[in-house]
Amino acid sequence: MTRFVAAHEVGVVRGGRQVLGDVTVTAPAGEITALTGPSGSGKSTLIAALAGLEPVTTGRIVWEDTVVGPRSRDLRHRCGLVLQGYGLVSLLSAAENVELVLQAQGVARAEVRDRAREALAAVGLDGAGDHLVEQLSGGQQQRVAVARAVVGRPEVLFADEPTAELDPATRDRVLHVLLAEAHRGAVVVLATHDRYVADVADAEVELEDGRVVAGSA
Ligand code: ADP
Ligand code: MG
Repeated sequence: MTRFVAAHEVGVVRGGRQVLGDVTVTAPAGEITALTGPSGSGKSTLIAALAGLEPVTTGRIVWEDTVVGPRSRDLRHRCGLVLQGYGLVSLLSAAENVELVLQAQGVARAEVRDRAREALAAVGLDGAGDHLVEQLSGGQQQRVAVARAVVGRPEVLFADEPTAELDPATRDRVLHVLLAEAHRGAVVVLATHDRYVADVADAEVELEDGRVVAGSA
């Protein structure tokens, strides 16, 4: 398992603008670390940088003892991602989207089906497995993305506003799933502007204008 994911004095310049500046954060395994702050404060950029999807201009990202760089594609197999826009395959069913992860891991066929069904049930989508993603509501798609991110039991889980489209009951289900991932020993990092979600997290790092203003570790 990966014991922590960290940013060390990370700066990101995009289009000539300093989007992140001098960000130092450590997200340990076994906990949920919440990134909070107003819209445009850099939460999504920091998640993308931690995941190795956004190149950093200064500083570095490390996953325990591995420095994340442009060649760190192998890290993708160790992490689950819930990004804005979800990145689901719209012409496949909900279950098929989730099963893809397990197929890529070489999990046996019968187990693939069972685990995908369980992951969908955990986010309140029992019975929706056969629906095409394009027929699902935004909130349902968001939950398929959560199921897909956790079904492979990743060491590191990144979730960008994973409850943004959910009502309180389904939000609680998703939070329960994310807490279970942390208890399993995963590093869980989420971005949220929902105070309720931030309060469920074990630690909170608040950003403003691309800088950490509270809770840096
Ligand atoms: P948050 O997730 O907290 O709302 P973001 O990380 O999305 O913040 O954005 C941080 C800053 O980067 C914002 O000022 C935003 O306008 C800017 N930004 C976001 N995406 C891009 C992009 N593709 N090109 C240039 N600037 C961007
Ligand atoms: Mg964002």
